[in-house]
Amino acid sequence: MPEPLRSLLVVGGGTAGWMTAAALAHAMPRGCTITLVESEDIGTVGVGEATIPPITLFNETLGIAEADFLKATKGSFKLGIEFVGWGRAGHRYFHPFGTFGKPFDLIAVHQHWLAAHAAGEQTPLDDLSMAWGAAKRGRFAAPMADPRSVASTFDYAYHFDAGLYARFLRRYAEDRGVVRVEGKVAGVDRDGESGDVTAVRLDDGRQLAADFFVDCSGFRGLLIEGALATGYEDWTHWLPCDRAVAMPCETGGDGFTPYTRSTVRAAGWQWRIPLQHRTGNGYVYASSHVSDDQAAATLVANLDGPALGDPRFLRFVTGRRRRFWNHNVVAIGLAGGFMEPLESTSIHLIQTGIAKLLAYLPTREPDPIAIEEYNRVGIAEFERIRDFLILHYKLNAGRSEPLWRACSEMDIPDSLATKIDHFRRAGRLVQRENDLFGPPSWLAVHVGQGALPDAVDPLLAHVADPAASQAFVGKLATAIKQMAHSMPSHRAWIERIGAAA
Ligand code: FAD
Repeated sequence: MPEPLRSLLVVGGGTAGWMTAAALAHAMPRGCTITLVESEDIGTVGVGEATIPPITLFNETLGIAEADFLKATKGSFKLGIEFVGWGRAGHRYFHPFGTFGKPFDLIAVHQHWLAAHAAGEQTPLDDLSMAWGAAKRGRFAAPMADPRSVASTFDYAYHFDAGLYARFLRRYAEDRGVVRVEGKVAGVDRDGESGDVTAVRLDDGRQLAADFFVDCSGFRGLLIEGALATGYEDWTHWLPCDRAVAMPCETGGDGFTPYTRSTVRAAGWQWRIPLQHRTGNGYVYASSHVSDDQAAATLVANLDGPALGDPRFLRFVTGRRRRFWNHNVVAIGLAGGFMEPLESTSIHLIQTGIAKLLAYLPTREPDPIAIEEYNRVGIAEFERIRDFLILHYKLNAGRSEPLWRACSEMDIPDSLATKIDHFRRAGRLVQRENDLFGPPSWLAVHVGQGALPDAVDPLLAHVADPAASQAFVGKLATAIKQMAHSMPSHRAWIERIGAAA
């Protein structure tokens, strides 16, 4: 029998470090000492406020009540992302959480919409999404369980203050025995024979030894790169943004929206994330197309309310570590790789990194099969998300700025080209193993950015005529509208469930 782990060290106390420590403390209540080392002097990346629906499961698994979490993190609900100016100037669309309506016989709802649209129907695809029905009216309520109700067809995630979330999880982890060490890692010791990491050394001479290490040290990747030189795959040629400038502002008027907004700018795009006490904003941009000063000026000129604080600049290289698990080190969070926050996927990748770590939990002797599978699945998860992000850039073809012209003309990965071809032919939404974003998400971006297919699914002609499709679309849009009107406002719901900060 392989010997179970006796000690594990998490290096770094940002969102990744504390999510990892909290989840491990919950899953491994005995037999293994869990320590986390972090440096207040170095601090955390300090951004990362929007998430996707699986985050609700993370909290639920840890037994964290939704209202407690939202109150502690001054969080809000997120029904999806509104994309403004993507596809062409002056245009907007919504990437909803959930589906577009419910299945209609054998044919996907969007095939009816495509047929109806070709016959002159004016209802936008967005209006067939319950998430958008509620979002555009500033409404929110928990989805209903009854599958016959249109209110069962949406899902949700959160916006929250990531610093407060890390603090909340720190309390959770420390209550369950995680030992926190304040200190700066200055060196890493490795076994002369196996090359495994044996300990990290702090700048005051202290040494922290462990059987296994989780590198959550952020972009630095102190162990995975600094000590083990694992290597990095750079995807900047597909996703050219390499910097961001962030600046929160006051939330004015009815700006407390239950959704994130992404607005195209000349050299990238701007995020808007409403929390209970402020609105988070940032401009993600390609430094080859705009200077830092120009980017900051653009951001400041496009805030909803008075700025809170000075602009904060961040630099990154989009891509992933060649291996996430190397020797007795797993890299989780920014230490493992980073893709820009267009679809709010980084915190989710922390979550899947933790889930895989538990699924392939190391013992004191490394198991090469477990390591191989961890890396194989992790790489596939990164690549599927990468393709979905590139889709947005590739289809942003109606813009005249040099960055966007170059993106619409760039070569794309074959895995993505195949999916685009299938949609173009007959509106088919092909799925692949480890796809995080399902058919409704891909549909939203294809249609939202104006890439309509050449034909509909040939099966439709055997099932319904365009008039029937049009009637179906109209009925669904009406049901969604009525349901949305019956929901409380976003703020009223937060107050009702006791989540107001
Ligand atoms: P960090 O926050 O950088 O934490 C690193 C930790 O390591 C810190 O505690 C630091 O003190 C410690 N450390 C480093 N070096 C040492 C040392 N020598 N000794 C001791 N300790 C050390 N994600 C989303 O899901 N949604 C979003 O909307 C989103 N927006 C983003 C926008 C931008 C511009 C960027 C750059 C990222 C965004 N992210 C987003 C990603 C998200 O911020 C990160 O995934 C998340 O915060 C995890 O960061 P981390 O914990 O890996 O790293």
